[in-house]
Amino acid sequence: MSSTAPGQPGRPGPADPAAALTALAPRLPSPLTEIADERFARRGVRLLLKRDDLIHPDLVGNKWRKLVPNLRAALRSGEHTLLTFGGAYSNHLRATAAAGRLLGLATIGVVRGEELAGRPLNPSLARCAADGMRLHFVTRAAYRRRADPDWTARLRDRFGPFRLIPEGGSDAAAVRGAAGLGRELRGRADVVAVACGTGGTLAGLAAGLADGQRAIGFAVLRGGFLGGEVERLQHAAFGGRRGDWRVEDRFHCGGFARTTGALEAFARDFRDRHGLPDLDRVYVAKALYGLSVLAGEGAFAPGTSVAAVVTG
Ligand SMILES: *Cc1c(COP(=O)(O)O)cnc(C)c1O
Repeated sequence: MSSTAPGQPGRPGPADPAAALTALAPRLPSPLTEIADERFARRGVRLLLKRDDLIHPDLVGNKWRKLVPNLRAALRSGEHTLLTFGGAYSNHLRATAAAGRLLGLATIGVVRGEELAGRPLNPSLARCAADGMRLHFVTRAAYRRRADPDWTARLRDRFGPFRLIPEGGSDAAAVRGAAGLGRELRGRADVVAVACGTGGTLAGLAAGLADGQRAIGFAVLRGGFLGGEVERLQHAAFGGRRGDWRVEDRFHCGGFARTTGALEAFARDFRDRHGLPDLDRVYVAKALYGLSVLAGEGAFAPGTSVAAVVTG
């Protein structure tokens, strides 16, 4: 098949690309607030929250930092369509769809799970569709080929030209965007904790920190592969390993989007204790829970300050 039809004919791209980006104006640097939590204080550890969830109402958290470099590049080169990949609850798909609406770019979301095609959309995919994203459901076997050039060439035959953004938005440009998070935290904490899905945020964060600061990525998926991914992404973005970082694989709580009683109890208590919005369970709660366990185990010397990134 060799159709050249664009994703959405009604979105020819913005007339003035530079002006379009003002729709994405962020609140940066994101707030950094200390909170009193006795589980940390008891060990002489200070806990800070880096509120990346407040950067932008539609491109939440680390998705703003990771997407904007690719959006800028798309506008600069006159590309009018973005194509990317995600599961049925992907925050990245939602952020990409919102960016498309705000910038006047067509968006195509390749969604894992062909069986979803005939069903009512869940709230996350319904949001994507409402923002104008064209959803293309594929089998799990096809989805596994998302980085295979032969398969993406077939997607180009089908959908016409597009800028391809990898799953989770993590490519070299995104990692360089996430380095801004690290730079904002220079001199502000000894240790920075972040949840890891594809590893792009950790890869950039660690690169942006100053000497003497270190980053811990809390894997939210099982499999122990994220360290390798972060390494690969840092090579792609910077030509080699950067910063002092490690991936902690003990707190995925059964795997992606899985939960445990202990995680639930921790998240509810954290919200009530500190009067904060409910923690995102897929990512942020696992990082904070893991951090509290590490603090309890004495992983941080008294006097250490730890900043946890609220990525969404
Ligand atoms: C996407 C996402 C992450 C994971 O970021 P990666 O760069 O893929 O590791 C973490 N937290 C939230 C809230 C997210 O939406």
